[in-house]
Amino acid sequence: MALVFCGVCGAMAYRVTGGKKGSYRFYYACSTQRRFKTCVPNQLPYNRVLAALEEQLSGFPVDQERATIADRLLSLVEPDLERLLKGSSDVRQKLEAEIKKLEGQQGMV
Ligand SMILES: [Zn+2]
Repeated sequence: MALVFCGVCGAMAYRVTGGKKGSYRFYYACSTQRRFKTCVPNQLPYNRVLAALEEQLSGFPVDQERATIADRLLSLVEPDLERLLKGSSDVRQKLEAEIKKLEGQQGMV
């Protein structure tokens, strides 16, 4: 399972759920902090991650498939998520290549 790592202590970060029923919010949270409270509560809001993806998807023509596509892209970049959020260009390129591929598939339908 592809995982994100805590930027502070390097432990695995989990995707955790918070918020109310019906409007769940997801976070990436440090496993050390969650278990032992020895790290910092640096939860990374999932929607910040999605916002980064949305930005990439803004030119994508098919609205109803965005959620699915965002999901797919998210799993693709999950191991590099932190780097993506820090503006890593090669992770961006990976994402753009995947989007191009998806666009090609759309064109064939
Ligand atoms: Zn940590």
